[in-house]
Amino acid sequence: MRKSLIAGNWKMNKTMGEALDFVEYLRSHPGKEGVETLICAPAPLLYALADATKDLPTTVGAQNMHPQPCGAFTGEVSPALIKDSGATHVILGHSERRQLFGETDAFINKKVTRALSEFIVPILCCGETLEERQEGITMEVVKKQVVSCLMGVAEADVTRVVIAYEPIWAIGTGKTASNADAQEICKAIRTLIADMYSKKAAEKLRILYGGSVNTSTIKGLMAEEDIDGALVGGASLKAESFVGLTDF
Ligand code: PEP
Repeated sequence: MRKSLIAGNWKMNKTMGEALDFVEYLRSHPGKEGVETLICAPAPLLYALADATKDLPTTVGAQNMHPQPCGAFTGEVSPALIKDSGATHVILGHSERRQLFGETDAFINKKVTRALSEFIVPILCCGETLEERQEGITMEVVKKQVVSCLMGVAEADVTRVVIAYEPIWAIGTGKTASNADAQEICKAIRTLIADMYSKKAAEKLRILYGGSVNTSTIKGLMAEEDIDGALVGGASLKAESFVGLTDF
């Protein structure tokens, strides 16, 4: 049985005070029992957030990580720093990183393998552009991303990866894939994992949907067999709405 996961992606939002106010709300509204919750915050907030949430069920994740352990990489965040902060997860290969910062599958693959070797849970994002969807090559695109980004990952480790299917045209646009379309791709990703590894690994690995998910759309998405949770940007910024997403 795969545990549901609601992961918030705050992107480049919130000050320290706003982040700690959010945690105060979680203290009295922890969300539905049995649903895992995670906040992926900007790096400067990680230590304080991990400390503030240590007695709460919500965990904390980073939004990016460099694959090298340390060194001359100005402005980057090391795996060691993420671990030291108390964060447990990291979003890798988000479409904003791919599109705005030129991240390639090969670079993301290095990050995924590093995160796994450091026992940080990678949330590996994949998804097609609107043009690719219109061309009918969604699964081809997603398959290439997943295969390339998981290169060299052993079967024993792959079940620690969380895959987030996020159609790029649905991110921050208010447009959501239909429940059936989201399910179709998430199911195809699970079948791909079964082909690459085993049916057992595919049954264990969690797949999230992301793209303008909110408290009105979460229920329908979570009713789909292969959708194990959501990666949520906009609707994770208000504490009431984030907690509301666990109520599906
Ligand atoms: C995201 O940032 O991964 C995302 C899905 O954003 P939004 O929910 O705002 O579309």
